[in-house]
Amino acid sequence: MPIRKRGIIIAIDGPTASGKSTTAERVADRLCYLHINTGAMYRAFALLAKKSGVKKSEADKIRELLASADITFNAAGKISLNGEDVSSKVSAPDIALLASELSTLPEVREKLVASQRELGRDGGVVLEGRDIGTVVFPDAELKIFLIADQEIRAKRRQLELAASGRTLSLEEVKAQLAERDRRDLEREISPLRKAPDAIEVDTSALSMKEQVDRIVSLARP
Ligand code: C5P
Repeated sequence: MPIRKRGIIIAIDGPTASGKSTTAERVADRLCYLHINTGAMYRAFALLAKKSGVKKSEADKIRELLASADITFNAAGKISLNGEDVSSKVSAPDIALLASELSTLPEVREKLVASQRELGRDGGVVLEGRDIGTVVFPDAELKIFLIADQEIRAKRRQLELAASGRTLSLEEVKAQLAERDRRDLEREISPLRKAPDAIEVDTSALSMKEQVDRIVSLARP
């Protein structure tokens, strides 16, 4: 096991809207750890591609865009694209769908995975995404795989979108989740998989406090 200066690495993976972001944020708060929402990094790149009018099929332009993109988290922990806090812009449903599409490109994953390893290597960090326990930090000390009933995930996502002023029908939300799940599961590189040593937590019937308590107690038994 590598020696980490700041604590352990907690990897939280799972499908879209399984509750990863809020859980990861609260677990990080309780442990005084850093929270890295890797999905926000893919969304920030999608925002840049949209702004620049670059399509997935334009390989050279995607490469140029990646070289020019500074995607990180600011001092307040907000996702930052070339120095701008884009946390509100990246929560839009069209950006989520574009992120899901662009995250299948090997060059996009390569650059963002390298940044994620850099951000997390000293430990004391909770990273959440789809491939943290399998690809980004296969040696993470604690791996959690969050799952939840599909209907519940759709309702949670609908509420989340409503909170940011976006009204979508449950059917629309379900269709978007299904499309993103399919891409995450079927892509060739780093598909969504539960790492063999990950602990599965089904959040369907758990309150947020219960799931956070459970992970915190696993982190410091
Ligand atoms: O987690 P979130 O839904 O914000 O992520 C946006 C998209 O980025 C996902 O639909 C997924 O396809 C992609 N993603 C990924 N690998 C990660 C995190 C997110 O492919 N580690």
